[in-house]
Amino acid sequence: MDTPETRIHVSFALPGPAADELAASGLLVTAYTEQTGQPRESLLADAAGASGLITLLSDRVDAELLDAAGASLKVVANFAVGYDNVDVAAATERGVIVTNTPGVLDEATADLAMALLLDLSRRVSEADRFLRTGAEWRWEPDLFLGLDVSAGATLGIVGLGRIGMAVATRAAAFGMRIVATGSRASSPEAAALGVRPVSFEELLAESDAISIHCPLTPATRHLFGPAQFAAMKPGALLVNTARGPIVDELALLEALEDGRLGGAALDVFEWEPHVTPGLLTLPNVVAVPHIGSAGGATRANMGLLAVRNAVAVVGGGQALTPVG
Ligand code: NAP
Repeated sequence: MDTPETRIHVSFALPGPAADELAASGLLVTAYTEQTGQPRESLLADAAGASGLITLLSDRVDAELLDAAGASLKVVANFAVGYDNVDVAAATERGVIVTNTPGVLDEATADLAMALLLDLSRRVSEADRFLRTGAEWRWEPDLFLGLDVSAGATLGIVGLGRIGMAVATRAAAFGMRIVATGSRASSPEAAALGVRPVSFEELLAESDAISIHCPLTPATRHLFGPAQFAAMKPGALLVNTARGPIVDELALLEALEDGRLGGAALDVFEWEPHVTPGLLTLPNVVAVPHIGSAGGATRANMGLLAVRNAVAVVGGGQALTPVG
């Protein structure tokens, strides 16, 4: 007979393979089955008495939720590599293990960062929107001129971790010069890709385009604000597939409206899912709804890793990918 101590609650509809594996674990499972994520009050109620929670990045895992779950809770398995939505200190105080999904989404997220960089630099979405207006056009030498990425443009990678390295691999293949910050910027793997380690200030000054890949922490919140936009090359491009609050979104809007920056491509937003309306009226902004890891196989693997973490800890074993 199942007891509340062996129950795992999932706050969303897991991808099929992960849902199947969780069902096969023999544990009692409850799940909120809408793709939209579970409303707070309902999540608080369903968490009560659970041993494990599998959560989305949009779920706030704080003292209130941990206390609502109660003393039975052993693990929070976040369905994301970023865990800025989790109060890890509050979990640790309560003896709760927190896990994330590192590694399985590197390639998919790097693919999207590169897609956004190419889109922005060659004005693909802007040209597509233009064509859809039905406006008259003909081939012209200066129609939608953009940045020659492959002619040695410099890409600045802020946070050369797992995803940053995957972006560097792609950028190197496109013939870009690469500068980066973060401890791995000085590693042999980075050197093999031609990455030059620089200070953050040098990166701002030298980059034709900057791609952000650091986590959201107190130290990186508003890492990009008015001073950083002023220090960037005039006309430089900004790509953010990390977390919205790393960029001061209103300051970004101002830098774009002033013509200080050449454009921005955004997968993430400061007040997600709200998008600062002014951004969506600018031609040199590409905006997509947080789809960085949205490959079918990638999402299945994220689900499997989250399930394996939760089942392992609930069963008294070690988490595969604990944070902290
Ligand atoms: P990771 O391997 O831990 O890499 C993060 C890198 O950021 C590390 O190299 C770290 O450098 C660097 N860093 C930390 N603090 C920094 C700071 N203050 N300034 C500059 N760099 C700093 O993480 P990952 O797996 O690549 O993921 C990175 C982030 O991408 C996640 O945290 C998540 O928020 C985001 N993400 C978004 C999506 C999406 O759907 N859009 C998908 C996946 C991930 P050190 O080595 O020096 O600590």
